[in-house]
Amino acid sequence: MTKNSALLEKKLEQTIKARKALETARKHQVDVLSQFAVKLSLSCKGQDVALDNQLAKFRSALQKGMDFIEFEPLIESMSETLKNQEAINSANSRALEQSILTAGKQLQRIKGLPDDGRRKLRHLLDHELANINATNDYIPVLSKLSGLYQQALQLKLSQADVAQDPTQSQASPEIASELLNLANELTFDEDVSQEVKAIKGSITLNDNIDSLLDSSLNIIRVIVKSIARERQSAQGFLVSLNQTLEELNTSIVETTKHSQSVNKQITSLNKRIEEKIHSLNSRTQEATSISELKSLVDGELKLLSQDLIERERIEHEDKKALYNSFEKINDRINVLESKVNTYKKRLSEQRFKSLLDGLTKLPNRTAFDDRFNQEFHLFGINKGDITLVVIDVDHFKSINDKYGHSAGDKTLQVIARALKKAIRKTDFIARYGGEEFVVLMPGMHLEHAKQPLEKLRNTIKSIPFKFKETQVQITISLGATQFKDGDTPLSAFDRADSALYEAKNSGRDRLCLRE
Ligand code: GH3
Ligand code: MG
Ligand code: MG
Repeated sequence: MTKNSALLEKKLEQTIKARKALETARKHQVDVLSQFAVKLSLSCKGQDVALDNQLAKFRSALQKGMDFIEFEPLIESMSETLKNQEAINSANSRALEQSILTAGKQLQRIKGLPDDGRRKLRHLLDHELANINATNDYIPVLSKLSGLYQQALQLKLSQADVAQDPTQSQASPEIASELLNLANELTFDEDVSQEVKAIKGSITLNDNIDSLLDSSLNIIRVIVKSIARERQSAQGFLVSLNQTLEELNTSIVETTKHSQSVNKQITSLNKRIEEKIHSLNSRTQEATSISELKSLVDGELKLLSQDLIERERIEHEDKKALYNSFEKINDRINVLESKVNTYKKRLSEQRFKSLLDGLTKLPNRTAFDDRFNQEFHLFGINKGDITLVVIDVDHFKSINDKYGHSAGDKTLQVIARALKKAIRKTDFIARYGGEEFVVLMPGMHLEHAKQPLEKLRNTIKSIPFKFKETQVQITISLGATQFKDGDTPLSAFDRADSALYEAKNSGRDRLCLRE
């Protein structure tokens, strides 16, 4: 009997241990899942305010270790928001598609459009348009472009009334330069940047409306191509995220339900085992002979060990089911994790890129606007000296005209590098557009800015440019002002701009200050 009861005790101990191991394994798996879900949810931040709120709730619930069954409504509502996000994307893209379509159809009605342009237009409207879906960032640029496009079209219409041969009509220089500025503001992936460069070249070389329309159309094509690529990556990411969340949900609900039923079974088995041990205990006390005791213990122990075997079986299956369900979703998580990484990389590249000017690698107009507003805000608080300088290259058009657009591009790169090198580390320089640059000099009084700015002007003037064996001197004009009480960003900028205007009008290659 002692032997049997020791055996029984050992078996009991083993099952308790097995159960403990199972619980630890499960807890670990749940922890890994929770950590991943936290990471995943952080990577989705910033797409939508409602989604951000839900994700924050989701993360705090995960970190607190809320009961899985309570996650269900949270995950459901997040899935709903993710679906809505997709709906918003596609609504934006429909509006965008409509605006391109309208502009394109208007153009199709025009007589005298070159065959090539007409073919490209038809392809754009019939094929490429069907494939686009907008990334929000591109929408304002594209609608601006299509506005420009319509503007050009109207000009063509009015000129066609006057001129007999519409292909010879001259474009307004504002349209060409606006288009160029626009092309400069956009930053494209490496593979399309060559295309953009060629398009930019054609904008300054040919001034007639048709080639301008053609260039606009070409830029639209490049943007459409970039959007389609961006969309695929963003959409794919949202879809996989949604799928994984749904699978995660299903798996959690399933395993929770399964565990609950297993728990119930085990509790009732435990109760039965306990009762049997109890009854065995009391009946052995009452036994009067060894043989009675022997048969009693044999019979009861047999039943007891059956219960224990049953318990082991249930626990084993529970473990297997749990393992399978985690295994299934583990695969998806691995795939998704790599997608999250690629997507994150793309997003940060995109954000980084959109603040740099593609040609000169200086901060662009958007970056300047950000910094300008920031400095202005600081000025409102601590009233420190801050000088704003607007710089414009003199007679730059003639460089393009005489030596070609790509010589012009290289010149801008050299000037940008020289300007950047000549200013202090604490100064901020940006390419404002075309051949215009702006410098913000925090902590610099306007009077004190005079000397370094004159030096800057001379630095550019003494760069030995050489085009087609000809030595060429390039000069810049500068207008500078200082932030003062009662200023708005606009009024300060206007003052610097009018100082520049004065520098241009009084002979160029000079610095003018405006208090
Ligand atoms: P001003 O002294 O009055 O400033 O004369 P300008 O010729 O410099 O001024 P204007 O504004 O008439 O012309 C600026 C020219 O700069 C027009 C455009 O062809 C050229 N430009 C603007 N952006 C670029 C660019 O990215 N690359 C090249 N190559 N040229 C550009
Ligand atoms: Mg200019
Ligand atoms: Mg100029």
